[in-house]
Amino acid sequence: MAGHAPAKREQAPDFSDYRGVWVHIHQRDGVAAPVGWQLMGRAREMADVLGCETGAVVVGHGVRHLAEQAIQYGADVVYLVDAPVLARYRTQPWALAVSQVVQQYKPEIMLFGSTNDGRDLAGAVATILQTGLTADGTELSVDPETRILNASRPDFGGKLMSTILCKQHRPQMATCRPGVFPAPPPDPTRHGRIVEVPFELDEAEVHTKVLDFLPEEKTVDLSTAKVIVAGGRGMGGPEGFAMLREVADALGAALGASRVAVNAGWIGYEHQVGQTGQTVRPKLYIACGISGQIQHQVGMQDADIIVAINRDPNAPIFKLATYGIVGDIFEIGPAIARRARELRARFAQEQAAREPAAASAAGSST
Ligand SMILES: Cc1cc2nc3c(=O)[nH]c(=O)nc-3n(C[C@H](O)[C@H](O)[C@H](O)COP(=O)(O)OP(=O)(O)OC[C@H]3O[C@@H](n4cnc5c(N)ncnc54)[C@H](O)[C@@H]3O)c2cc1C
Repeated sequence: MAGHAPAKREQAPDFSDYRGVWVHIHQRDGVAAPVGWQLMGRAREMADVLGCETGAVVVGHGVRHLAEQAIQYGADVVYLVDAPVLARYRTQPWALAVSQVVQQYKPEIMLFGSTNDGRDLAGAVATILQTGLTADGTELSVDPETRILNASRPDFGGKLMSTILCKQHRPQMATCRPGVFPAPPPDPTRHGRIVEVPFELDEAEVHTKVLDFLPEEKTVDLSTAKVIVAGGRGMGGPEGFAMLREVADALGAALGASRVAVNAGWIGYEHQVGQTGQTVRPKLYIACGISGQIQHQVGMQDADIIVAINRDPNAPIFKLATYGIVGDIFEIGPAIARRARELRARFAQEQAAREPAAASAAGSST
């Protein structure tokens, strides 16, 4: 029709020279962030679907041991960029190093952990490479026909899941939150290749200098906790959290919280579980006075066992819970702490009674 340009059909460019699913292994002082290994496991599964290799990118100085570790966690090939200028994380040199390896060896998918540094790095790398980046993915899958990465994440305040595709550029990039995927067990018998990639950047060309590094004392590590006792608005204030801390201590658990409790200043942000907090996967999660809104659920729904304590029988958390207790946390919490302490004391006594018996048995046999 006159005056109308014909509709353009979206034609995917030829990306056949891009192959492999890669993970950036973020490290500090030669210790890898666990999310790198967690993503390596998912990368391995997706590479098997696509019939390609997995790659790991290790950047730093004196970090060859991490390249070897990456192979144990599932990397077929590790690109190692080791140079003094890369000793500490700084956006500019690390982004140049990762971008250089990607431009040279062309992976089709590149994943980063959503740590503070990982988010910063991924954004800078995507900008240099002029490709797309899905931030904070919570589900990853690949289409074996199109080789497209489906990176899904909660959106619109957690009310919807969006699946984001990057059809026109390579690599397809995503950051993923720690704790979303389980790390595979390391296999020391696995074999892989380590490719040392030379990197040249004069320290004088780097805009930022690290004068000193003052680590913040970490008071809580929810990502590795086996048991978490978490409180929400129903705790009523800091005193409620003091009671909950006793429950947590009695159970040997870490203390978690909903965003409402954190925003109210009852407990620090490092305890927040959920979409804008941490993703956790403990064996046992006890949600106390938490209604279970979707933004909280996305952070704890992968716990093996969920116990919900809430005085509202219609609270949404009960739909997710393995066990639900309808009642007042200020009655139930102290009762749990008391019982846990009794059981611990009994266990300690029984063990003490067993030990002298075992010691005298050992003594009489010599
Ligand atoms: C973009 C965005 C991101 C968000 N990110 C997060 C996040 O990361 N984490 C998060 O948690 N939330 C997040 N939220 C907020 C979320 O939507 C909810 O507002 C929040 O999770 C509710 O917290 P809550 O369950 O503690 O409070 P409420 O929803 O008010 O629930 C309190 C519950 O306590 C129960 N209760 C009250 N008193 C007692 C008692 N004595 N004993 C037992 N039960 C009692 C009540 O019945 C009620 O079910 C986010 C929201 C948005 C929009």
